Amino acid sequence: MKLPNKFIEDLVREVVGDEAVRLVDLIKGKKNVSEFKIADKLKITVNQVRNILYGLNSRSLVTFTRKKDKKKGWYIYYWTFDEKKARDLIIELNEKRIQQLNKLLEKETSSIYYICPNDDTRMNAENALEHQFKCPECGQVLIQDNNVVKIDKIRQEIVNLEEELKIIRPVVKEKVVKVEKVEKEVKKKAKQKVAKKIKKKTEHKAVKKKIKSKIVKKKVNIVKKEKKKQEIFKPIEKIIEKEPEKPVEKPSRFNVLRLFSKKK
Ligand SMILES: [Zn+2]
Repeated sequence: MKLPNKFIEDLVREVVGDEAVRLVDLIKGKKNVSEFKIADKLKITVNQVRNILYGLNSRSLVTFTRKKDKKKGWYIYYWTFDEKKARDLIIELNEKRIQQLNKLLEKETSSIYYICPNDDTRMNAENALEHQFKCPECGQVLIQDNNVVKIDKIRQEIVNLEEELKIIRPVVKEKVVKVEKVEKEVKKKAKQKVAKKIKKKTEHKAVKKKIKSKIVKKKVNIVKKEKKKQEIFKPIEKIIEKEPEKPVEKPSRFNVLRLFSKKK
């Protein structure tokens, strides 16, 4: 969000002076404006322009670059108004002012004040008692100061300053959002890294599996070959199996005994 003109004007008037308002109005939103051009447009001397710019520069409200004039041999300065710094400075000054006003508010509401109707000499109740309620300047009897209006004014000023901060601060929030975005991206990248690692691992596993399955296939082939071999040899075995059985021994006493002992 662009900083409202009124905010810039009030700030520049406060920290540098009236003469700086026109100059800032001329260069804001532009980049690297020659000081000669500024002098020409404002119809003042280059030295006057420089004095104002030094004032702005002392509060970091302007930045500059310089270039050597080859013909004349001196440097020409080019100036840029720093809106971001202006915003930061407004926030800083408003916060300070709100703090001061809160202290003043506390002081005004925590005591009764007395005032001289002649010269506005003012003091709290304790001091007025010490002076027996007579003005130390002119001897006039002091009257109680009705500070309700004053307190109202202070409160109103605090409200106004806070309103200004509300208008300016959303940009600060944008910054926070940006930071969050960056953090999110970092997290996302970290996640992607982990995902890559997992992918690599699984790929590695897959390769391993492939190798394994190849080995298994090989084994299966070997087994198949074995089986084939066996099948080739089977008939022989069958033939062998079909060999005439040995004549069963007729159980003799001796044999039966032998069988028994085997069972045991
Ligand atoms: Zn007096």
